Amino acid sequence: MKGDAKTGNINMKLYNTLTRKKEEFIPLDENKVKMYVCGPTVYDYIHIGNARPYVVFDTIRRYLEYKGYEVTYVQNFTDVDDKIIKRANEEGVSMEVISNRYIEEALKDAKALNVKQPSYAPRVTNEIKEIIEMIQTLIEKGHAYEKNGNVFFDTKSFSEYGKLSGKKLEELEIGSRIKLDEAKKNETDFVLWKPKKEGEPAWESPWGEGRPGWHIECSVMAKKYLGEEIDIHAGGEDLVFPHHENEVAQSECCNEKQFAKYWLHNGFINVDNEKMSKSKGNFFTVRDISKSIPYDVIRFFILCGHYRAPINFSKETLESSKKSLDRIKNCHKNLNHLIANAKEQGEDDNSLFDEIEKHKKDFIEEMDNDFNTANAITSIFEIVRLINSKVSEKSSKSYLEKALSELLELCNILGILYEYEESSIDKGEIQELINKRQEAKKNKDYKLADEIRDSLKEKGILLQDTSAGVIWSKI
Ligand code: AMP
Ligand code: ZN
Repeated sequence: MKGDAKTGNINMKLYNTLTRKKEEFIPLDENKVKMYVCGPTVYDYIHIGNARPYVVFDTIRRYLEYKGYEVTYVQNFTDVDDKIIKRANEEGVSMEVISNRYIEEALKDAKALNVKQPSYAPRVTNEIKEIIEMIQTLIEKGHAYEKNGNVFFDTKSFSEYGKLSGKKLEELEIGSRIKLDEAKKNETDFVLWKPKKEGEPAWESPWGEGRPGWHIECSVMAKKYLGEEIDIHAGGEDLVFPHHENEVAQSECCNEKQFAKYWLHNGFINVDNEKMSKSKGNFFTVRDISKSIPYDVIRFFILCGHYRAPINFSKETLESSKKSLDRIKNCHKNLNHLIANAKEQGEDDNSLFDEIEKHKKDFIEEMDNDFNTANAITSIFEIVRLINSKVSEKSSKSYLEKALSELLELCNILGILYEYEESSIDKGEIQELINKRQEAKKNKDYKLADEIRDSLKEKGILLQDTSAGVIWSKI
């Protein structure tokens, strides 16, 4: 039986970074959940570490929906940032060209990972007006100050600063090795607005031309799309400090209300015990991995660990995830095949469903216990084993269909059985590029024709010129 948020038939516990405890989940508004997840900074393809919050918080959303909650899910794109500007300058293009490109690519990866579309996916550069408004309110309320075109948040104005990460202002000050910025009152103050630098994008503001600091964007977008108080705020554990700590300070000082009730953080995907990150160069993009390991396996691999535990990345573990997922996929395929050939009457062992029910109960218990997908997957394997042993050509159609529906119910919560477009670029796009290449050849522009062929090859698409025309295939 599905849970029902309205009748209170729910007993979910989740680990709240704010209280450092597993707590019962009680949303602010009965059966509605407002959830905000920090999204990627878009200057490159997402790596598998970035894919982890995508997949785990999508799964948590799916589970909340399964339990009967109506979830409003917001995930932003950080589309103004030093790294995006640097990349734009390197390529000699505008910041928008870079951010548009990598937002599109991140969306393709998310779709192929079976991540449901957020209710809202705002971009910072569309929210500058609201950002300026929140900064103004913070200044008016005495929590922020302007100096030489910068606006800083005054951390000493918020007595609860540090409550999310458990850090104390005094310790942070002693620990800080950064020399006090001339313009700042306290070393721990952080920037809300920075003045324009040569060659950087900038917007008009009451403090002169400039652009927002990083932290303010999420406070603003959460408020705009979800309201002043939200249920769940999530992201990777590297965001606890300073990003989320600063979000708490901004939002609570501006709105004078508790910002997020529950803070959820995923653990890292590591390489040789070090966090995978673009700056360290030890990263593997989802796009590259997907050339040898299918997207559904990448999703499954991420869910095979508890979302707060670290995962060590290795090709071997990915390969073994593929074998495990194949067991579930084969059971699914087999059921579909048997259903297609089944008769109305058959020899059925209905004890199957009592046994499935027990494992389903375990699955729900594991998911209710801080979303333990790793153990929940074990229950799915038990169900697969049972189904495999109790279905055959002699089973009736309705029996097989019922077994299939039980399997799908749980797999859909984890989002692990799905069809997806295998190519990283869609068929229409490929054909358009082929036409453009033919046109270039007609015009004897062989350089352009070769460039198009090579760019498709980079995306895993091979072109062959045949007497019947151009044929493309996946490498
Ligand atoms: P970024 O683009 O660096 O802002 O990261 C986007 C999201 O990915 C954030 O929620 C990060 O916390 C998360 N993230 C980045 N690297 C990793 C990693 N190696 N493992 C797990 N999560 C990560
Ligand atoms: Zn954020």
